[in-house]
Amino acid sequence: MMNAYTRPDFRLPPQPTAESAAFWTGGERGKLLVMRCRACGHFFHPPAPVCFRCRSLDVAPEATSGRGTVAAFTVNQQQWLPGLPPPYVVAMIELAEDHDVRVTSNVVDVDPKDLRVGLPVEVFFEEWGEGEDRVWIPLFQPATDTHEGELA
Ligand SMILES: [Zn+2]
Repeated sequence: MMNAYTRPDFRLPPQPTAESAAFWTGGERGKLLVMRCRACGHFFHPPAPVCFRCRSLDVAPEATSGRGTVAAFTVNQQQWLPGLPPPYVVAMIELAEDHDVRVTSNVVDVDPKDLRVGLPVEVFFEEWGEGEDRVWIPLFQPATDTHEGELA
């Protein structure tokens, strides 16, 4: 029987850098923080100290809606790590704020028959680690209150 793709219960936690710390910890306040350039206004990801469009150094993390659509996905069927059983979905999420910005994550709690390019999704966070090593991993699930095409 094909179940809805669920959440892995095991992860290799990220090791945030100075640039990516906001991305990995914004979930503490329920916010998906993505780098934005103050010179040209574009969001970009992954985090970097310079805007790849205009080369400005005036960049900083900014809260997004956490909404987007599935731009591409694959369903992993291979058990690469003990404790991380397949199947699970690895997807590129196109953020609602900027269609050029894509975040790679998992889509979870999705019925396999609903999974497709263009599926509206929303972020939620899983807290991992302890103390100074705590991170809030952004994961995505099918959007609950978004009408089809609203984000297109
Ligand atoms: Zn820029």
